[in-house]
Amino acid sequence: MSEEIKIVVIGAGTGGNMAANHAFKDMKKTKKSYTVTIIDPTFEHVYQPGFLFTSFGAKTKTIIKDSRKMLKKGINAVMDKVTIVDTENKLVKTDKSGDFPYDYLVLATGARMATETAEWWNEDIHEFYSPKGAEKLWAALQKFEEGKVVVSIADLPYKCPPAPVEMSMLLDDYFKKRGIRDKVDIIYTSPLNRPFSIETTSSRVEGYLEDKNIDVRLLFNTDYVYADEEEGYAVESMEGEEVEYDLLIMVPPHRGQQFIIDSGIAKGQGWIPTNKETLEVNGQENMFALGDCTDIPTSKAGSTAHYQSPVVGKNIANKVMGKELALYDGHVQCFFLTEFGKSMFINFNYKIPPPPTPTRKFWWLFKLAFKPLYYKFLVPGHFHKTIEFFNIKVKDWQNKA
Ligand SMILES: Cc1cc2nc3c(=O)[nH]c(=O)nc-3n(C[C@H](O)[C@H](O)[C@H](O)COP(=O)(O)OP(=O)(O)OC[C@H]3O[C@@H](n4cnc5c(N)ncnc54)[C@H](O)[C@@H]3O)c2cc1C
Repeated sequence: MSEEIKIVVIGAGTGGNMAANHAFKDMKKTKKSYTVTIIDPTFEHVYQPGFLFTSFGAKTKTIIKDSRKMLKKGINAVMDKVTIVDTENKLVKTDKSGDFPYDYLVLATGARMATETAEWWNEDIHEFYSPKGAEKLWAALQKFEEGKVVVSIADLPYKCPPAPVEMSMLLDDYFKKRGIRDKVDIIYTSPLNRPFSIETTSSRVEGYLEDKNIDVRLLFNTDYVYADEEEGYAVESMEGEEVEYDLLIMVPPHRGQQFIIDSGIAKGQGWIPTNKETLEVNGQENMFALGDCTDIPTSKAGSTAHYQSPVVGKNIANKVMGKELALYDGHVQCFFLTEFGKSMFINFNYKIPPPPTPTRKFWWLFKLAFKPLYYKFLVPGHFHKTIEFFNIKVKDWQNKA
């Protein structure tokens, strides 16, 4: 290892920005000389939970910010695309800015929308996983007067597990507000055997979907989408079920980044094999991964990256100091919207599932207040200790006698 310890972070989304800030702060404890460099092709930080609002008319510009403004002073920001990681020589290669040697590497490259993997994907299928997709959906919803709206999932895994159920329930509210709910059928399909992956929350969600008269089709693994006058307009499942639509909203296929596969760090769909507690990349030296890019069996969510980021920061410093590694306990929390004005709040970790708590106006207001807090404090890592103090811990509610 060279005199100056070089930490390189790839990706400046939720996980990358937070991990860079934590590493920059935690490395001070080592009393060594170090640099933190973060590389991203655009530094356009998209607050993706906002897509559920931009799909219903909120302005896209309110959810995109320059993530360089959320980095601690002293972190080097390089605007470029990483093309390959040479793991043998510990070099990160970029498109235009040359090579970056590293002693510690953090991968925070997210999940990409991979519509090219579904040969049936066409431009009339709506998605709300990109700024353009959400804007296009809003344009289509305003013109929609009657018929069948299908919310479906292309394949697993995808980011933000509640998002398609939330979309279905928000559609119900939207069409009610327009006074045309009786002319619109809302159908939600899921490859799972219940509406939501976690049983305790799903029991609540089932009731809400029923009250809202949303038709739920379970064990529905999307196989094909028909989209022409001759064949009709329908989604077909591998189980042989067919659901007709007038407007189709689909969670797109998700994959890891191609350069991760090309670098020999991951195989198959590109999810990085990661130790679910230490966040070290399996089979690699001094390499960590966090957020959506890992294969960790938990939600691909911003809050996952948030709770993982201090572990990555600490573990780089701990490795430098020869100390024991910190462990991520699987903490995830999420607002789960059930209508415009009400939300559930789910808070869980690897061991404890969320309690089956009902939807509340309070959590909706909390969700609205969260965005400015996210930009001002959470991502930049300001007042980290204060935020941790208010952190809603996961309580072992099942063993509370
Ligand atoms: C509709 C929707 C609703 C959501 N709602 C919630 C919610 O309510 N709560 C919640 O916790 N989460 C939510 N999420 C999920 C959350 O937004 C993501 O899980 C989170 O952004 C993941 O952070 P990340 O850092 O792993 O990836 P990202 O934030 O996606 O960042 C990945 C970064 O990697 C960069 N990158 C990729 N390839 C390269 C390369 N070759 N070189 C350099 N950089 C590269 C990209 O430019 C990007 O900046 C939602 C997501 C969606 C789509």
